[in-house]
Amino acid sequence: MIRALFPATFDPFTNGHRDIACRAAALFDEVVIGVVATPQKNVLFSVADRVEMIRATMDGVRNVSVAPYTGLTVDYARQIGASVMVRGLRVVSDFEWEFQLALMNHKLAPDLDTVCLLARGDYSFLSSTIVKEVAQYGGNVDGLVPDVVATALKNHFAPQPGQ
Ligand code: ADP
Repeated sequence: MIRALFPATFDPFTNGHRDIACRAAALFDEVVIGVVATPQKNVLFSVADRVEMIRATMDGVRNVSVAPYTGLTVDYARQIGASVMVRGLRVVSDFEWEFQLALMNHKLAPDLDTVCLLARGDYSFLSSTIVKEVAQYGGNVDGLVPDVVATALKNHFAPQPGQ
């Protein structure tokens, strides 16, 4: 039984993240999407909201669960009995950071291995940051994020009465 952890901030979850999660679910017995609650990070959505949106998006994928965590990712992986860490690789610039992260995590937890899945072409330009940037100025993010996330972004950036 191989349990894999897919950890990130997911602020917000995009269709690129969803694609990685679904492909990991086909490779491993169980996948836990770990949503990190980092108080020092400047996030748009609360951890509870991020978890809820991912749960709604992944509903129906039998072997995927979603949970928040704090602290070191390797500690959380141990706590839930995960032996694999899943990450996505988009463009070459991702590689350096992902490699550094994987080496550090391996040093901290030698029994934990990192598996990187290559982003599909359609999503290789897609990041949470760019989605937020586009949504902030009223751009259309349909098709780039799950519907529940598109609605949350629209509500978040909707002009307030009087503005
Ligand atoms: P964090 O800032 O917490 O690392 P990110 O959303 O930047 O969160 O990345 C989380 C993981 O998901 C990373 O491994 C990243 O490469 C991967 N990822 C992000 N966007 C995509 C995408 N569009 N396609 C595939 N993988 C992605």
